[in-house]
Amino acid sequence: MDGRLEPDCPAPLRRRMRRLRRTGAMRALVAEVRLDPGDFVNPFFVVPGRKIRREIEALPGNHHLSVDEFLREVDDVAAAGLGGLILFGLPERKDAEGSSAWDPDGPVQRAVRAAKERCPDLLVLTDVCLCQYTEHGHCGLLAPDGGVDNDATLDRLARVALSHARAGADVVAPSDMMDGRVGAIRQALDAEGFTGVAILAYSAKYASGFYGPFRAAAGSAPAHGDRRGYQMDPAAGVRQALAEVALDAAEGADMVMVKPALPYLDVIRAVREACCLPVGAYQVSGEYAMLRAAADRGWLDERTAALETLTAIRRAGADFILSYYARRAAGWLRDGT
Ligand SMILES: [Zn+2]
Repeated sequence: MDGRLEPDCPAPLRRRMRRLRRTGAMRALVAEVRLDPGDFVNPFFVVPGRKIRREIEALPGNHHLSVDEFLREVDDVAAAGLGGLILFGLPERKDAEGSSAWDPDGPVQRAVRAAKERCPDLLVLTDVCLCQYTEHGHCGLLAPDGGVDNDATLDRLARVALSHARAGADVVAPSDMMDGRVGAIRQALDAEGFTGVAILAYSAKYASGFYGPFRAAAGSAPAHGDRRGYQMDPAAGVRQALAEVALDAAEGADMVMVKPALPYLDVIRAVREACCLPVGAYQVSGEYAMLRAAADRGWLDERTAALETLTAIRRAGADFILSYYARRAAGWLRDGT
């Protein structure tokens, strides 16, 4: 295959696909997908207190940060040209309804105010859920039978989203998977005049085994039971995802998301084709942990493998990616190759 015709080749090879792969410049010209730092959103975990910077064991390179320490990272995110950052909070206290989630002086609310003051142009997203704030670790209020009470939870989620909007969040992102939460949040935001605050719905969020490191990081593992009663079954596949997306769009979602990302590329593709809203994907903690662990053992080249997964997620149809690789990927892209 050095360019000459094989002796028994029936016709001249007019079309040689390898011409398109011969040099880096050619490969770059014909690439269908490009990665850009602006595609990535960096998750952060903020905690009460001051001068706190604790590495999260299951998410190496990520930290529990008090707001003053988080602010140092904000400059870095802005300088890296990332698409934005998303905040998760760990509260001082938990209760049955997760009331500290809408505390105007909670770590997330303070972090939003501080980040927007420091970098007004940086896009600040907030995760809206109750599981980090409830004693039982579920994403909603519990009914007497121990199940999660969907409709009673909606008002609490709306309060959380409003508290984030008042702090200055650009985007609120409900991750709880309650039916009707996008509509409830939109109504609450509009009623207070926050018509410009966007909603990114975690529309197709699967009950996944890949969330393990996050739960350790966020202290949000359910004390009993699991989340299969409200998050999607991995085997439910694409049709339920499209129904979730259609409902969230009808209720006023501005953007939708698929989570996790790599095990659900088919879902990202289907959502992209069925929906005209921007589509995000969350490369979750377990996806990151797998790559990191294999790289630590020398079994994978981390940079190559991580950029390949991010490329695959974009190729499937995601417009942007929430990823623990956000800043390193931006650095790798900046350094070339
Ligand atoms: Zn939750």
